[in-house]
Amino acid sequence: MEASKLNIVLAGNPNSGKTTLFNALTGLKQKVGNYPGITVEKKVADVDIVGHNVRIIDVPGIYSLYSKSIDEKVAQSIICDKFQDDYADVVVVVADASNLRRSIFLLTQIIDLKIPVVLALNMIDIASKKGIILDVNKLSFELGIEIIAINARKARGLLKLKDAIIRTISNQSDNYKTILDVNKVFGKIILEVNQIRGIQNDYASFLSLCGYDMGNTIEQKVKISVLSKDNELIVDRLQAKETVRRYKNIDIIISKSTKIVEVAGKYRVTEIIDKILMHPFFGYLIFLSILFLMFQAVFQWSSLPMDVIDGLFTKLSLWTASAIPQGILNDLLVNGVLAGIGGIVIFIPQIAFLFAFIVFLEDTGYMARVSFITDRFLKQVGLNGRSVIPLLSGVACAVPAIMSARTISNWKERLITIMVTPLMSCSARLPVYTLIISLIIPVDVYYGIFNLQGLVLMLFYILGFLAAIIIAFLLKFIIKSKERSFFVMEMPSYKIPDWKTVIYTIFEKVKIFLFDAGKIIIAISIILWFLSSYGPGEKFKQIEDKWQDKEFAQENIASEKLEYSYAGLIGKVIEPAIKPLGFDWKIGISLITSFAAREVFVGTMSTIYSVGDDDIVSIRERLRRERNKETGEPFFTTAVGISLMLFYAFAMQCMTTVAVVYRETNSIKWPLLQFLYLTVLAYLSSFIAFQLLS
Ligand code: GDP
Ligand code: MG
Repeated sequence: MEASKLNIVLAGNPNSGKTTLFNALTGLKQKVGNYPGITVEKKVADVDIVGHNVRIIDVPGIYSLYSKSIDEKVAQSIICDKFQDDYADVVVVVADASNLRRSIFLLTQIIDLKIPVVLALNMIDIASKKGIILDVNKLSFELGIEIIAINARKARGLLKLKDAIIRTISNQSDNYKTILDVNKVFGKIILEVNQIRGIQNDYASFLSLCGYDMGNTIEQKVKISVLSKDNELIVDRLQAKETVRRYKNIDIIISKSTKIVEVAGKYRVTEIIDKILMHPFFGYLIFLSILFLMFQAVFQWSSLPMDVIDGLFTKLSLWTASAIPQGILNDLLVNGVLAGIGGIVIFIPQIAFLFAFIVFLEDTGYMARVSFITDRFLKQVGLNGRSVIPLLSGVACAVPAIMSARTISNWKERLITIMVTPLMSCSARLPVYTLIISLIIPVDVYYGIFNLQGLVLMLFYILGFLAAIIIAFLLKFIIKSKERSFFVMEMPSYKIPDWKTVIYTIFEKVKIFLFDAGKIIIAISIILWFLSSYGPGEKFKQIEDKWQDKEFAQENIASEKLEYSYAGLIGKVIEPAIKPLGFDWKIGISLITSFAAREVFVGTMSTIYSVGDDDIVSIRERLRRERNKETGEPFFTTAVGISLMLFYAFAMQCMTTVAVVYRETNSIKWPLLQFLYLTVLAYLSSFIAFQLLS
């Protein structure tokens, strides 16, 4: 990271439009860490504004600098702690103009810290519909900062905002206004902290006194805490007093610069919609119907683009096979690399549709309602209304989902949410499910308008959810805690989603699926290709000689060769353990490789089954042709398929998730426990299903 770059930090309340503004300012230049949550991880983009090369940082939403949860702390420390890498050179506070009083609290705290700040007054369209008229010049004068009215969604006012940002960075003056003079409120103790810190910054000293990390050295921190003890200060009381005084000053400022006029009827609409969507009976019914539609759509709409991709990859493989001279390289490319990539790329349409739905639900404001209506029910099973977001995001990927549980402030409810989130069917399971469903469920069976394959898929999603609820309920009695919990959540007003946000998110998620998962998948595909093309001992040599000698039936030798290769040997070692589940050594190999990441399963299967094949057919056909050695019947029976799907529904086959749970709980105990209970659950349910069905 270059130190010379100017850092522009976008801060503000949740739902004020930070991410929308970030997208509008940065376009596709953004870099998201490895695991994007909607607002949990910070997003970064290096862009050029008004000829300056700057770095823009989107941080989690906060209401004040009094951070409590972990994601709030991230935002707070970027603003307050000058030893942070991303420390703000200028903060752009994004405020919801239709909710100015609440938005301005954070802003005035930042102003009092004497940090260069610009106010981006967003959602003026909503404010004016509500009849709020703002005198921007007056407000700007009262606060002593630049204020630009913008509409982040329509990308209005951005040029002015950019100019204001650059002006604010270059004209740094010492003439900051003080909105609340803590010196007057709390007296000489503030000056004493100033002395300890060696900096004349009253408000930073106040926050230091409250125990926040304001970039103080350890020595300074010790001195400050001694001072606080000597004066018998209680932090909560200090903050309560500050909050009351600050709001008083804010109210004066707002009354000077805003006017409210009557508007007829308009905002009743939200109330009427809420009455329906949050109805104690219809609310749930609507939510379930939406989920149902979502899964039908994911399955049906994506079948056409999937066929197209499948066809393209078959062509590409054929072309590669004929264009490159026969030999190891040809074999590696066609049967190792391309087979692995092909097995993954095909799932892009499904993942894209799934995310389109999730972003859509979140962006319309509906997700917040769902959290609200589910809170009562979720409380009973040890979760919390806020658990809905991790649980539903778990349908995409457990990694960001587990991180989004940070917003749950109750430790026990957060822990339970983390423990059960991997049970939700993530997108990495989707390829496995789709493949097996297409093998064991006929294509053209409909019940009314519902396609049977889609129904089975939905059943597995429901199964994951039910398992999560049951396990949560059990954990409620196992994990002990005395902390009480409250549910506080803002209901954002309903909005038509911004198609740009939707598209960015889909693009982002698909990219992560392709590249992060893809890296592992290709590496494993190549290792597997090696393991299945080479083998130890005399027996393998003999088979290979026979292979060279084109007189023998190719197909028989191909499978024989695989059986005696390294991969075959490993698979056979574990075969006794998985035989009661209906799995053979080929599936055994795939199970082993997919313990690192589930989506590797499909790639592995396609690599294993394509080795030795001279003609290239799609993975589905290859599996369909597979016969049971003992009976001669097709190997993939319904019993095997269901058993395999159950195994994937429950097993913790994702190293990244294990790592994230470790990081989030800060203990080896929880990820270990989670791994164990999921493995046992997977094995037992597959065992029971196979024994019953076969
Ligand atoms: P964040 O939580 O602060 O990152 O907020 P988002 O950027 O996710 O925005 C929350 C919602 O407000 C989204 O649905 C946006 O499309 C919407 N939004 C953002 N800016 C505006 C605006 O200026 N006007 C209106 N009407 N909606 C906006
Ligand atoms: Mg955001």
